[in-house]
Amino acid sequence: MNKKNKAPTTKTPKILKESKFSPFAIEIVKKLKRSGFQGYLVGGCVRDSLVGIKAKDFDVSTDATPEEIRKIFRSSRIIGKRFRLVHVFSRNELIEVSTFRANAKEENNSEVIKDAEGKILRDNVWGTLEEDCIRRDFSINALYFDPIENHLCDFHNGLQHIQKKILVSIGNPLIRFEEDPVRSLRAIRFSSKLKFKISNDVKEAIYQKGHLLANISNARMFDEFCKIFLTKNAFDNFKKLDSFGVLKYLVNSDGYEENSFSLKFQHAALINTDNRLKASKSVTPGFLIAALLWPRLIGASKEKGVLNLRKFFRNMDRIIREQQTLTAVPRKFHGYIKDIWSLQLKLETRLGHQPYKILNHPRFRAAYDFLLLREEAAEDTQGMGDWWTQFQKVNRPGKIELLKSLRESRSGPVEKKFGFFEELS
Ligand code: ATP
Ligand code: MG
Repeated sequence: MNKKNKAPTTKTPKILKESKFSPFAIEIVKKLKRSGFQGYLVGGCVRDSLVGIKAKDFDVSTDATPEEIRKIFRSSRIIGKRFRLVHVFSRNELIEVSTFRANAKEENNSEVIKDAEGKILRDNVWGTLEEDCIRRDFSINALYFDPIENHLCDFHNGLQHIQKKILVSIGNPLIRFEEDPVRSLRAIRFSSKLKFKISNDVKEAIYQKGHLLANISNARMFDEFCKIFLTKNAFDNFKKLDSFGVLKYLVNSDGYEENSFSLKFQHAALINTDNRLKASKSVTPGFLIAALLWPRLIGASKEKGVLNLRKFFRNMDRIIREQQTLTAVPRKFHGYIKDIWSLQLKLETRLGHQPYKILNHPRFRAAYDFLLLREEAAEDTQGMGDWWTQFQKVNRPGKIELLKSLRESRSGPVEKKFGFFEELS
């Protein structure tokens, strides 16, 4: 291949020259160039470096075909069918190297296949750098940086848009979002991550084409779910997704009133996730999904304001199944989510020796954190969180004392003994 083209070279900003790119990614670019091909760092790593954010992964783009790339790098593998590219490995790093692509000119080209709604199903026509640029989603994602020559290729004013902090589509967003509806989620995600405005035509396209997200595979939607909700901007993204009317494609939740427990609880869980990530603590999609779906589970399991246990346990499976049709939540999280939910009941009842067993339950910590979040959002907490905080802290005689005073405080009819989720009434 190796068709050279003239790229407009913008004056490379100092911040980019001084950015720390992965030495391995730079080595890959060098090797491609030594083999007579073009090679650029592209996408998120260039964009983030220009914005002053530490890049998290590095993508390389080249005019070498996957087979040619494969030949140059011994530790590499061709992957993907819809979008063929090459993974090049070092001992502790993986770099995605993709071949420049072009939009197919002929309707019947078998390397680009679209469905009836215009969605691209297969996309493997090679092209030039310029053609590759046009196919990227937003101008800020279409910056190509050659770290050897220190030059930046910018065909769509990406640099200017970074300076103006605005997200601009490459081409008509109505068509671009038809080709790939996930771009509307990406627009929202980047605007939260970078604190950029979304240009008006992109906003309009999200409103008009958001419904096409229903056609995206649940596996791809789960990937997006994680990028949206597990990268420090969950709360911002949640509010934006809701205001654009596309939250329902990611979360099986009803819309709740501004000051309701349900919405406050969802918000508390999202803020908690963001704070944990900012403090470099671990997060799991299981916990957040359990929280986002909790109001629906409780709402569907109540009868005349009282929780119906049979319904509660039956609804657990149904609600996970419904979420599954939206996002392919890996199996390993299903049990985890159900454990957190059912432990909420046990944390409240605290009968007999149960509390000792619960303390040793592998999901106790998650369930306890979940309870604290419920309390954070609820008006009347009944001191349950405090009780469990104490119960963990004190020694055996202290535990016996806590259980005794709990028993004494519970006199009256059975249904009055437990305030089963009154916060949701
Ligand atoms: P981040 O990795 O921070 O999520 P990113 O921009 O690197 O952001 P990736 O999904 O890693 O996002 O994609 C790398 C690049 O590939 C993007 O910058 C963009 O140029 C292009 N790209 C990715 N997904 C799409 C898409 N759906 N439509 C058009 N271009 C895309
Ligand atoms: Mg990336």
